[in-house]
Amino acid sequence: MPRLLRRVLLDSPVSRAGCTFATTVALCYGAPLSIGKIHRVDGMWVLRGLPKWAFSRGGTCVGRVYLTSNNVSGAVLRHELVHVRQWERYGMLFPLLYTLAGRDAHTNRFEIEAGLEDGGYVRRMTKPGSKSGATPPAATDGAGQPQQAAPQLSRPRTPLRPPHWG
Ligand SMILES: [Zn+2]
Repeated sequence: MPRLLRRVLLDSPVSRAGCTFATTVALCYGAPLSIGKIHRVDGMWVLRGLPKWAFSRGGTCVGRVYLTSNNVSGAVLRHELVHVRQWERYGMLFPLLYTLAGRDAHTNRFEIEAGLEDGGYVRRMTKPGSKSGATPPAATDGAGQPQQAAPQLSRPRTPLRPPHWG
């Protein structure tokens, strides 16, 4: 893409206007269908309680709106916030570019950028050699005094969440 076109279309007033338009459409579409909690996370509207037919996979990000039934873990919201950033960068080009990137999330560059683990497309990786239930090294308060034991930080081995579009 030529530099001038890139400057006009990407991360620009044009792209943000497109994102705002998509946000407006998504709110008008999703809010009446939402029977769950509606709240904002870092500027992203999260509309819960939508019927399954109203979004793709586990949830759909349109503009600054995340439409879902109840797929709202911290990891998923972190993933969706990256998609919001993609919408802001590409504006109304984003749906086209996303589609061209392919339906397979594992090779779709936008899903890869948003994080396949956070999006529930791949299992969380554990560090090689790590053992579940291993005790982490004792933390100190800087004066050599051990602090209260930190909570176990190993990642849960939960089944894959349903994937989602966008
Ligand atoms: Zn995604």
